[in-house]
Amino acid sequence: MWAGLHSQGIMEQRFPQPIRRVGVIGGGQLAWMMGLVAPTLDLELVVQTPQATDPAVAVAQAAVLAEVNDVAATQALAAQCDVITFENEFIDCEGLQTLADQGTIFRPSLAVLALVLDKLKQRQCFARLGLPNPRYEALGGEFEADGLEAQAARLGFPLVMKTRRLGYDGYGTTVVRTLAELSPTWERFRFAPVLLEEFVPFKQELAVMVARSASGEVALYPTVETQQVNQICRRVLVPAAVSAEVETTITGMARTLVEALNLVGIVGIECFLTQDDRVLINEIAPRTHNSGHYSLDACPTSQFEQQLRAVSDRPLGPTHLTCPQAVMVNLLGLEVSEYRHQEKLASLKQFPQATVYWYHKGIRPGRKLGHVTCRLEATEDPEQVAETLERLWYSP
Ligand code: ADP
Repeated sequence: MWAGLHSQGIMEQRFPQPIRRVGVIGGGQLAWMMGLVAPTLDLELVVQTPQATDPAVAVAQAAVLAEVNDVAATQALAAQCDVITFENEFIDCEGLQTLADQGTIFRPSLAVLALVLDKLKQRQCFARLGLPNPRYEALGGEFEADGLEAQAARLGFPLVMKTRRLGYDGYGTTVVRTLAELSPTWERFRFAPVLLEEFVPFKQELAVMVARSASGEVALYPTVETQQVNQICRRVLVPAAVSAEVETTITGMARTLVEALNLVGIVGIECFLTQDDRVLINEIAPRTHNSGHYSLDACPTSQFEQQLRAVSDRPLGPTHLTCPQAVMVNLLGLEVSEYRHQEKLASLKQFPQATVYWYHKGIRPGRKLGHVTCRLEATEDPEQVAETLERLWYSP
């Protein structure tokens, strides 16, 4: 199916035949948006996702209906595809290794996925690469618990407690304000392996998308600012209002990371910008990312097209902004009727310059149901536009 070749001292896997069918583990909105662009690259998608009603099933050529961590299902997926990529990283990495050993190509590699699945391994990797992290302590699992108070004292309060595995959108992340809260909080985590992190009183949260192909071509998107409400991304402003030095630092870190990981695909990198302009990496996501949705409307190549290009050995596309600036607002499920959701959606669609994406998922409060992007002129105030969009959706 593929031939190994040696490039830059690292085994790369390249295909003698053009890649036509891409398997995607996960079938949510990210795979759906990939599915919308796949035909423009003459690619077919096959998704592995639990429900026939999951968004990407409607746009995929075929679907394997199974949980994303079902290895037998991924074997069936691999049998129909030239390469497998991810929209969801909550996989059974060890189980999939057997498939990789038998020749299934995963892009990014399972080594990258294994790293991302464990927040401690991520932090250790960033430190090895000289990429600044928040200070942290590991607790539980292979680490003794006796030093709990001493570990917390080394970081100081407030601190942040995070599960090492399976956290997303802030689920599994809690701020611990005092020593008295420490033990009860860990108890609520059922004493699972966690990280304690210094609480970073950041000036801004920043993110950048980076794609890399098997030939080593790298494409960087502009750095964006993300703003979260209750630890879930609410809005993205692009480009981020940061100094040229900060932009250079972030792009340098992003390049170091994808090259060191020999990453093939796309990765979202989330960072904190401290009050004194230091950039600390929070975490990475080895796939398209909420912070890159604006690229659908404000870049020549969307992050979804770029992931497909990277994993299918097509040349990467240009990543600059095609407008002076843009904002993206997430549409989360509300405690109102389905009819009221539809009314709000209709009002957003009337907003000048807005493009609304509705993922056609079951409505649940807090669930990511869609997003809206607005291209802006240089004279417009992105925060003000974001506030107006948010009012249309979030006010009663
Ligand atoms: P998840 O993997 O669930 O998305 P994150 O680590 O990204 O969890 O945390 C979610 C949000 O919580 C971040 O975007 C940030 O706003 C806040 N947060 C996380 N870690 C810290 C920290 N060490 N200091 C301050 N805020 C943090």
